[in-house]
Amino acid sequence: MIWSMLLGCSMDADRLVAFQVQSDGSYTVEPRAIESLKDPLRMKGELGEMRAGGVLALRGGEMEYRGGRQIEVLAVVEDGVAEPVDLDGLILYSFYGHLQDTRDALERVGVPIAPLFPVSMAVTPAVPDIGLALLPVENAAYAPSANTFILLSDLSEKQVPLAANAGVVAHETGHGVFHLLSTGDPHAAKLFPPEHPGAQGISSLDEGFSDMLGGLVTGDPRFIVPSLNLPSRDLESGITAEQVSSRPELETTSYDPYALGSVFAATAWDIRLETDDVDGTLALVCDAVKSWAEAEADADDAEVAYRYLDQLVALGDAEQRQAACAAIELRFAGVYSVEECP
Ligand SMILES: [Zn+2]
Repeated sequence: MIWSMLLGCSMDADRLVAFQVQSDGSYTVEPRAIESLKDPLRMKGELGEMRAGGVLALRGGEMEYRGGRQIEVLAVVEDGVAEPVDLDGLILYSFYGHLQDTRDALERVGVPIAPLFPVSMAVTPAVPDIGLALLPVENAAYAPSANTFILLSDLSEKQVPLAANAGVVAHETGHGVFHLLSTGDPHAAKLFPPEHPGAQGISSLDEGFSDMLGGLVTGDPRFIVPSLNLPSRDLESGITAEQVSSRPELETTSYDPYALGSVFAATAWDIRLETDDVDGTLALVCDAVKSWAEAEADADDAEVAYRYLDQLVALGDAEQRQAACAAIELRFAGVYSVEECP
């Protein structure tokens, strides 16, 4: 048996040890191929490069990521398998692998996400303006217009670190996809500024769409649970818009986008269950973002986010339309209805 400890030189390994989600939602730590990660010691590849530190700051009203040091992963290589010698390296491999899986799932169903890559990935950057554009965030985030993922250290010990959770990575990628599909350019400003009358509802739609991706890419409606016990984010909960703050434009203090967001996400999951079609649902929820943004770009009212539901109905095939109408009627009763539904 030959093994070698490698740092800063090339590595002859075709599989990397990383967190992987199983079909029942549990996690294992096992070797896997991550073909897009061309240089696993320095975390550089087709999807982008990870860098340590650096500054994520506002420049002219937009977020921008600058600087950062080259990362060096310390790994043991044995029989073509590279195993990081610390949890940090394991998290980095896991994040990159999940990002590749999310990209592959979206490309397989024809979502045009190529412009998102290469994306910047900043590990524990300095974020002097974090209160402006990133909250609420715990330790994995996506900064639109900077086109940068942010990975921070977990604040507490978790079974699966957040940045190593496949659904969380798909969720964060969802913010990038939402931004790309709604603006056409990962470096563009957001379609709707924070002072837009519908901005809070849109932030819920953004979170909800990201949870749709987390659920649909992993196949797990409780994808966050291995990292955080958050029953309110369960895509199979009975949550309805009437139970949450369904008039977000009237909220004045610290609006929580996840509550209404979970209603949007549960609606998509209802469609997935009713049609028994993961890929078709994934394509539909993404197409609907693009059409919604095109149709609503000039909207200046508070209800703009709800009209995303109209697109789910308008773009769906016969089976999806029926499922979407039933889900919307159930989840948004008394709050919003789609005219095209019977
Ligand atoms: Zn989010």
